[in-house]
Amino acid sequence: MIVVREEYCPKNHRCPTIDICPVGAITQKSKNSAPEVDNGKCIECQKCVRACQVFMCIGCGHGKQSAKPPSR
Ligand code: SF4
Repeated sequence: MIVVREEYCPKNHRCPTIDICPVGAITQKSKNSAPEVDNGKCIECQKCVRACQVFMCIGCGHGKQSAKPPSR
């Protein structure tokens, strides 16, 4: 399961993971909102997780550790 950590998203740009997702599972209502992942469509390729290394707002929701925000 892919999770979006909304609090990490700066919400000031079109999310680049929308174009990276091979199955169109990522949408965004506007460039001022966080992306949303349709886990019904998602095939868990993790391309979006690797693409969002700057803000770390998209992550794998398996296991407690990977879902935790990174330490600062
Ligand atoms: S893990 Fe892959 S299929 Fe799932 S939302 Fe991310 S890019 Fe799309």
